[in-house]
Amino acid sequence: MSTPYTERPLAAPLVDAATEPFWNATREGRLSGRRCLSCSKLHWYPRALCPFCQGETEWETLSGQGTIYSVSVTRRAGPIPYAIAYVTLDEGITMLCNIVDCDLDGLHIGQRVKLCFKAAEGGAMIPMFTPA
Ligand SMILES: [Zn+2]
Repeated sequence: MSTPYTERPLAAPLVDAATEPFWNATREGRLSGRRCLSCSKLHWYPRALCPFCQGETEWETLSGQGTIYSVSVTRRAGPIPYAIAYVTLDEGITMLCNIVDCDLDGLHIGQRVKLCFKAAEGGAMIPMFTPA
């Protein structure tokens, strides 16, 4: 069986003062997270205060290289199937995202993936992953 990836409309993300630098970076093709200035740990999703020690954090550009931790293909939520996955980046943080531009039935745990972007309504670029 194979399920080809099909483009579907993406809702515009909520952009506020805290997330604006993140969305500006995606327009330049960069995925960014925040690292703690006190304990040096990276976390996801980006927060102003470190979830481990409450320290101040700063933006950091991530590699965009990762591995699928878990993946499932959703077929019932609408007419267009899509793959949703937890991807663990090489930096060690795990993010929930879509896997695109491939046969969705060929995706598997442990598979190497790389960052890509899809445009949402309003022009924001949504970070996603595709097989590396
Ligand atoms: Zn910290």
